[in-house]
Amino acid sequence: MVRDRLWMGLLGIGLAASALWAFDVFPGLAFPLVGGLSALAWAAGPRLHDVRPRRPWRLLTAAALFFLAGIVVRALVIAHPYPLGQLGDAFSICGFGLFIAGMAVFLNRWGINRHALLDGLIVCIGAAITSALLFVLPAIAISGRPALVSVLAGGYPTLDIVLLLLGVNMAFTTAVRQRSFQFLGAMILLIFAGDLGYAIIGRHGELTGSRLLDLPFLVAFTIGGAAALHPTAKALAQATPLPIQAWSPARMLIIGPAVAAPFLLTVLLPHETPLSRWILGAGGAAIVALLLVRASDAVQSHAAAQRRFEHQATHDPLTGLPNRRLLQLMVERRLTERGTGDVWMFYLDLDGFKLVNDSWGHPAGDRLIVEVGARLRHALPAEATVARVGGDEFVVVQRCTEPEAMAGARRIMECVERPLLVVGGGEGPTAEVVVGASMGIVRADRHDTAEALMRDADTAMYQAKEQGRNRWTVFDASMRDAVRERVEIEVALRAAVAQEQLAIAYQPIVDLTDGLGTSTVGAEALVRWEHPVRGWIGPNMFIAVAEDANLISALGAWVLRESVLQLSRWRDKGVVDEDFWMSVNVSPRQLGDATFPDRVAAILAQARVPARNLVLEITESVMVEGGELTERLLLRLRELGVRISVDDFGTGFSALGYLRRHPVTGVKIDRSFVGGLGASTEDEEIVRAVVAMSSALSLAVVAEGVETTAQRDVLVALKVPLAQGWLWGKAVPASTFAGRLRSRERVGEPVGGRSD
Ligand code: C2E
Ligand code: CA
Ligand code: CA
Repeated sequence: MVRDRLWMGLLGIGLAASALWAFDVFPGLAFPLVGGLSALAWAAGPRLHDVRPRRPWRLLTAAALFFLAGIVVRALVIAHPYPLGQLGDAFSICGFGLFIAGMAVFLNRWGINRHALLDGLIVCIGAAITSALLFVLPAIAISGRPALVSVLAGGYPTLDIVLLLLGVNMAFTTAVRQRSFQFLGAMILLIFAGDLGYAIIGRHGELTGSRLLDLPFLVAFTIGGAAALHPTAKALAQATPLPIQAWSPARMLIIGPAVAAPFLLTVLLPHETPLSRWILGAGGAAIVALLLVRASDAVQSHAAAQRRFEHQATHDPLTGLPNRRLLQLMVERRLTERGTGDVWMFYLDLDGFKLVNDSWGHPAGDRLIVEVGARLRHALPAEATVARVGGDEFVVVQRCTEPEAMAGARRIMECVERPLLVVGGGEGPTAEVVVGASMGIVRADRHDTAEALMRDADTAMYQAKEQGRNRWTVFDASMRDAVRERVEIEVALRAAVAQEQLAIAYQPIVDLTDGLGTSTVGAEALVRWEHPVRGWIGPNMFIAVAEDANLISALGAWVLRESVLQLSRWRDKGVVDEDFWMSVNVSPRQLGDATFPDRVAAILAQARVPARNLVLEITESVMVEGGELTERLLLRLRELGVRISVDDFGTGFSALGYLRRHPVTGVKIDRSFVGGLGASTEDEEIVRAVVAMSSALSLAVVAEGVETTAQRDVLVALKVPLAQGWLWGKAVPASTFAGRLRSRERVGEPVGGRSD
């Protein structure tokens, strides 16, 4: 774009005009032309590139106009006697003031950095001593002219020093130096050089000299205008702060001469006066003092940075507690030191944390973590280590006796269980939540590494979780065997899934509305695995392993395909009627895969089975913990026409809200409630409530685990429409299932005693 190239044009014209000036061609033209153009550039550039804020640029534009006026007026009046001859200086000095103000605005926006300021001051004092001794004192000493003339002669170098201070500060404050920034810097240097030229001739009382003395100003105007027109001017307002770099070579290059100046001047200056000695002494002392401040500053900030860095690397940012890395070091130290009692590790994982996070938002979850951390720290003795080692996992390590450890465990659980006030996102409601923790406890005993101790504590924690959460388990060596066994099973299961060694058994689901459950209306597919050595392994065991080992998707997909194909064959052979459905269990993990609905659709299409003949059984936790993706997947499945039933209903969170929010079509009353029917009126009430609720929401209800006719009769009385259980048959291979359907064998009677 032309707009982005304008600066080149200005640079070309300015440099050409400067060259003409140097060779005395059209000398009257150069300054008005270049000065006018650059003032125009400073006014227009920021507008062209939409630079914000505009204020520094306005100040710079005004400065340029004053400089220009200064030069023009100076040329017109210089021949006049005092004070008219000095009128040009009035403009120039105003220009300086404005220029310095503009630079200061920039600097202020970048944030003035203490280091840069100190360095700027050191350079300034060095330069001030030099200029005072070399230029100002000789200029003032010239007798026979008005005091103002002498003051002005000394004034320019002083203003230059302020300019220098700004320049050094700018250079040391930003890390990124764009072109526009470099142009500004060059401009400051050129002004400085120009003034230096005049200061040198001023030593002898001269006020005008060769035209070449003005050349730096012409080029300065040019480059300054280019700075405003360059597209990077936009970036000038935001500087990237320079990382603390106390003694970089570039800094030394600038500070070095300033520090050396007093010594060099002492040696080199021919005639000393008392005043010059004072200036040297005071200036030198000031520089030394600043250097000391600077050095101690650098050391301190370095140490502080080091401390901050170490803290960050070893502590959890949210709670401020030690993190896993530091914990490891601390445990290692404890394991080697001697003392009374043993080292105990408590590994706790919050139960229900995800629920808080999902229902009240992440800030509430964070607050919960912070609060639990603070409570633990508060409740435990100072010599106990409390660390956060994962999202909702904490570890406490303490040296104590066994009774003390057990008391500590109770205290820890109490910290977690105490209700906590959480505030929802935005102005959301405040609620009291209660979470729990599953905790594994291990006593250091022939544990020689922190890692081994953590692993055993973690194993015990898992055990606690499996035993129903919100409890603690003390590690014992048999758990290690259990872990080993699990690993073995995992390896075998992986092979079994890959080689399709699994089998599926089918259990009938019957219609209860006839009072007996004579007709079988569906079947649940239940996976079976015969381990080559261990024999039959129950799905409760290996499904959990499959979930942990990431095998569940492959396993689930296989079960789904096989059972739907089985249904398709039964439909083709007329074994079942067209309403007969297949229920298939789906693990929460499978619903975390966005392609799941498409896979289901593909399987149904391949088997030519209508979607409504497939029921997917999901657990309540899917609805509670699943999140948005799961919700979308469930909706998509419903759109396909697949039915969705909530398995083990009543054992989990059973929140009615979940049922209403999610697109489910039915519930399966957990067998723990069915088992109590006929004996427990409480279970009866629960079943009654589920039926009432389900009919209100038009959900299909299946009672599972029906074993006796007494249970069946209560279910019939409670108007439960569908049932499943050993009373009508255990899960059997497909051929057996089909054979029974054909012969309508023992309909309505228990078939117990057969292999499952
Ligand atoms: P579930 O979905 O609740 O399955 C019902 C379980 O209850 C089955 O146990 C079944 O054999 C058993 N059962 C049926 N009728 C009765 C009865 O009258 N009395 C008693 N006491 N039990 C009865 P199974 O086959 O051991 O399955 C256990 C669990 O494993 C299932 O519980 C299900 O959560 C899971 N599972 C089974 N197959 C699969 C599968 O293919 N995929 C997934 N993801 N999970 C599966
Ligand atoms: Ca099920
Ligand atoms: Ca169930």
